[in-house]
This record gives sequence, structure tokens and C-alpha cells, in this order.
Amino acid sequence: MGFLLGAIRIRSSPLSSFSNFTNTNSFQKSSIISFPKHGLSPIRRMIQASLHSKGESEIVFMGTGTSEGIPRVSCLTNPEKKCPVCSKAAEPGNKNRRLNTSILIRYATASGVRNILVDAGKFFYHSALKYFPAFGNPSGVNEVKTTTHINGVCPSSIGANIIETQVVKWKPLVLVFRRGVLGPLVLVTWSPASCFGYGGIDHPCGISLQGVIRCTETVNYWLRTIDAVIITHSHADAIGGLDDLRDWTNNVQPSIPIYVANRDFEVMKKTHYYLVDTSVIIPGAAVSELQFKIIEEEPFIVEDLKITPLPVWHGINYRSLGFRFGNVCYISDVSEIPEETYPLLEDCDLLIMDALRPDRSSSTHFGLPKALEEVRKIKPKRTLFTGMMHLMDHEIVNEYLATLMNTEGLDVQLSYDGLSVPVKL
Ligand SMILES: [Zn+2]
Ligand SMILES: [Zn+2]
Repeated sequence: MGFLLGAIRIRSSPLSSFSNFTNTNSFQKSSIISFPKHGLSPIRRMIQASLHSKGESEIVFMGTGTSEGIPRVSCLTNPEKKCPVCSKAAEPGNKNRRLNTSILIRYATASGVRNILVDAGKFFYHSALKYFPAFGNPSGVNEVKTTTHINGVCPSSIGANIIETQVVKWKPLVLVFRRGVLGPLVLVTWSPASCFGYGGIDHPCGISLQGVIRCTETVNYWLRTIDAVIITHSHADAIGGLDDLRDWTNNVQPSIPIYVANRDFEVMKKTHYYLVDTSVIIPGAAVSELQFKIIEEEPFIVEDLKITPLPVWHGINYRSLGFRFGNVCYISDVSEIPEETYPLLEDCDLLIMDALRPDRSSSTHFGLPKALEEVRKIKPKRTLFTGMMHLMDHEIVNEYLATLMNTEGLDVQLSYDGLSVPVKL
């Protein structure tokens, strides 16, 4: 049985009630009660909550662009030529604005949502900064929902205020109260395993105030943890963010498993040597705590989700992995699909695939014509392209792709950063 909290003052919204408290500096950094100003609309949140409550998973596009990002800085500073796509992409919220290609699989299990990240590239921090707060789910369970009941009217204006509430690393939730405006801080913790509680504290004025914190399950719909990272290949736009995972392993969870092919692990031994061999770290330095798990080109299980590697070529003699989970196939970096991989792509509901530029392929990536050829061959129910460079204008290309639905019945579109797609896994 959990226990609870003192109570306080009635506010119309339990969530907004946290926003106005005066925080002590020591708690500001790790507060979970900070909601995005530009986050999801209430309707979007309701939809998301209802999806999760039905056990549906979700794919969040953390980034859909090439290594240098869109807009290119060089396009914005070019005095001779205005780049139409980069000019648009410079506007906040424009769908041409793209960070390094990556997705987050929000896998709904009976015991909660698992966050499985595919690739953490150079811009991972910027993606996470944008989407982790935005895709938190304040209307899901595991929210700190305070419904306060006051038994009696306090004759004093001195209330017992919740000062802050936070999850400290992987430890149980901690609530911090102040008894009275100037009174001592009181810390209350309870285990997520028993996080339904009802109780009260005695108000200094002698009248018992009671409150309820409801946290019905251990289910976690917050986009906060990273349960695993799966690596497609070891280019900088796929692994350049491994160092940034330190924020998670220092402040959210003890460690993160990294699923990686041996050839890419060998690269990491050079590029991130201090994350692989932690004996070289100066004592006390807090780097990412990563557990490297070597994968073969065989199915493996991550958080009960079966992941099937989809081996592809990403340039001559350079192997990259796509991944299949459920009927979703993700191939972010590909110049050629080997024959033996096609059977793994059968009965695909959603294909997410590389399409670099509108006119032709490069030596390492599919261009749009080749990507469409592959779609016709693989025959997925729906396709979303990713990994687009600055020549791909979101609106113009999507307009063209929409015509293929009429002419060929092809459901193909470009993805964009922040897109969320519900999937059954
Ligand atoms: Zn440009
Ligand atoms: Zn690459």
C-alpha cells in the first residue's frame, strides 16, 4: 500500500497545480512536472492515451533527414542562390526541418510501454529535447494525479504546499512537501509497485487535511526512459549520440543496452572507446553506462519484442541493418537490398524506407525512383520514406506521391520529424 500526502489546496487541474509552485533550485533540474509549451494538444493527448490503453504501440519519428541536417547551414548563408527547401526548413515547425534519421518504437506491453530507440545519431540530443517532453502522456496512468479532499476548512492561510515532485533516477517517486509556507520540507516516497495511495497529513493548524495520489499501475506512459537502443550501422548520424545517453544513465535509469552488430561494435571501440572500456575513465566522471549486446543477422528479442535484422547494402561492401518488428519494416540506410532479405519483407503492413533525393540514387542511398521501385516489389500496405536530403520538398513530393494512390494504389508518403504512427506489434 502506498501512502500519501498531505493536502493542500484545491485546484481545477491537478497537473497545472504543479506549475506555479516556487521550486527550490535543487529540484528544478529533474522535475517531471514540466509540460511542453508547444507539446501535444489536449485532443492529441486523449488520442494517445486511448491508443495506449488499447495496447497499441506507436512509432515516433525522431528524425527523418540526412547527416548534416535540414536546413543546411551552407544553404542559408549562400549569397548567390536561395535554397527553397532549406529556406522553408528554417521556419520552426516546418516539415522540411529534419534531424538525423531515427525512430522510437513505443512498444505497449502488459506491464507498460517500452521505449526502444533505433539509432542515436549526432542530433539525438536535439530530437530527444523536442520529443521526449512532447510525447509524455499526462493523461495516462502513472501520472501524479492529485485529487485533494479537504476535511474541513482551514482557518489559516498557511497551507501545506507541494513544493516539487520528481522521479529521482530509477528510484521511487519522491514527493516533497513543505509544511506551511516556511515550514520544514517533508519528503514522501512510495514504490511504483504500490503507487495507489490515500492518506493525509496533519495540518499545522490542527485540522486534518487529506489527499489522494492515484497512480493505478506500474505502467509507464511517460516518454522518459530508453529501454534499449538498436543500431543500424556505425556512421556518425546513427551512433554520434551515444555519449548523450549519459543524461539517461546518470539521471533516469542505471544503464541502457545497446544492440549492435559486431562490425559496428568494433567501430565504437574506436569512436567511443571510453564507453566500451570504462576502465579508462577518470574516477567520478559520469559517462553513459551502456551494455553492449552483439547481434547477428538473426532475430533477437528486446523487451519481449522480436526484432528481425534486415541486412542491406549501404554502399559497396558496406553492410547496414534494417529491422522488422511485427509487420513493420524499417530500412533507413540502403543502396541495395540483397535477394535473401526480400523474404523477410513479406506481408509488411508499414514499410519505412530510405529515399534520399527526388531524382536519382546515390552510391549509398536509394533515391525516390529506386525507392518506389522497391515499394512496388515489396508491396507493403503503407510506406513512409525517411532519410531525405534538402532536395526533397515535403509538400511537393508528397503531392506527387499522393497521385500514385490514384494511379497505382500505392500508399506512399514522406515522413517528417515528430510524426507518430500507431502500430500493432
Ligand atoms: Zn538547401
Ligand atoms: Zn549511413
